Amino acid sequence: MSSPRQDAWLRRDHAHLWHPFTQADEWESQSDNLVIARGDGVWLEDVDGRRYLDGTASLWCNVLGHRHPRIDAAIQAQLGRIAHSTMLGLTHPGAIEHAERLSEHTGLPRVFYSDSGSTAVEVALKMAFQGKQQVGEVRRTRFAAFTEAYHGDTVGSVSLGGIDLFHAVYRPLLFDAVRLPAPDAADPEDEARCLASIRRLLGEHGDTLAAVVVEPLVQGAAGLRHHSPAFLREVAALTREVGAFLVVDEVATGFGRTGPMFASVGAGVQPDFLCVAKAITGGYLPLAATLTTEAVYDAFRGPYTDYRTFFHGHTYTGNPLAIAAANATLDVYAEERVLEQLPGRIAALQEALARLDEPWVAGVRQVGLMAAVELQRTDGTPYAPHERAGHRASLAARKHGAIVRNLGDRVMVMPPLVMEPPELRAVVAALAAGAAEVCG
Ligand SMILES: *Cc1c(COP(=O)(O)O)cnc(C)c1O
Repeated sequence: MSSPRQDAWLRRDHAHLWHPFTQADEWESQSDNLVIARGDGVWLEDVDGRRYLDGTASLWCNVLGHRHPRIDAAIQAQLGRIAHSTMLGLTHPGAIEHAERLSEHTGLPRVFYSDSGSTAVEVALKMAFQGKQQVGEVRRTRFAAFTEAYHGDTVGSVSLGGIDLFHAVYRPLLFDAVRLPAPDAADPEDEARCLASIRRLLGEHGDTLAAVVVEPLVQGAAGLRHHSPAFLREVAALTREVGAFLVVDEVATGFGRTGPMFASVGAGVQPDFLCVAKAITGGYLPLAATLTTEAVYDAFRGPYTDYRTFFHGHTYTGNPLAIAAANATLDVYAEERVLEQLPGRIAALQEALARLDEPWVAGVRQVGLMAAVELQRTDGTPYAPHERAGHRASLAARKHGAIVRNLGDRVMVMPPLVMEPPELRAVVAALAAGAAEVCG
């Protein structure tokens, strides 16, 4: 979708930018790169004024649409007061209000702010470790995480990661995690097998664990592997039995993505730590939070010279502009009854995906308003990695009016939660048209 205006920007981009999770040779050589200039509702617009449905919710975070008047106004109002002041030794009304509201939604009374999903997980790891140390459980120095897990890109969260493509190269830098098997898709036999191994591994290592860390219900970055609420409850029970903390990483699943506000709460699981980021500000500004219990907080109390303080904090922790967006986001959830309208949208996405009975569809998976379409050759064999079928299909979908992104040969559909059935159908149709061009 090259044009003189777009190409001029891209030449400058290629000279100076380094894009995340992007192979430079591919980025600089492909002809369909887009320069996005505006957004409106569930639409993105490039510098030439062409519009695309935001089928990735701007990487899983834009839940309420772009330029939502309520969130725009909240940020503008906050700009009229102050853009930033520190949480280190000071506080502010928005941060207090938002902590109260997150606690109400999760049942976890203590809220520690940071800036990204990765930092929310790092904070949970350090709190869990130090918390156990400070109640005398000094042998608990390790963590357990799942196969194919993704918890972010900082060194601690990468240590928990189980996706070789992203994580293997860093192994010499990382701490060892006990690796628990995660089911691929909520199949009862598969889950029973995994639980038997988990029981054995926790029996063996449980008394050395500070925490078990899990993405509740869905491993998004693994291409939408998923498990049942019953499996999650069993993992929680086994974790409690061995005396380790349970950390749920709700960075992808939080704020309604799977249906309920939080996947773990919806499954009836009460974790010791809950990490949120991505959708917390409606996808507007970087903010994250690590929530925990009063018991954990109490393990950090004492006279200053006992040095039990949590010595961790980021400069922009609890940034007032981001918090204003986060509070407005919760207002919109209540006012627009976002969760109440989800079942109809989830069903519409499911119906649209069910109609994809093409020979190049290896499988479709969906949990709530997240889905993945796995591509294959029309003869039923898988593509080789160098063929980049998923990547090329995602690029081709742009010509048909939607932005989607692949993980390997799975093309993900992760729309804003406010996307209506006609637009959901249009995203699936664009994906199908793109995939047909590449695979058909
Ligand atoms: C995206 C994601 C993260 C990392 O969040 P960032 O804000 O990108 O650092 C962590 N965990 C899960 C489950 C995620 O989906």
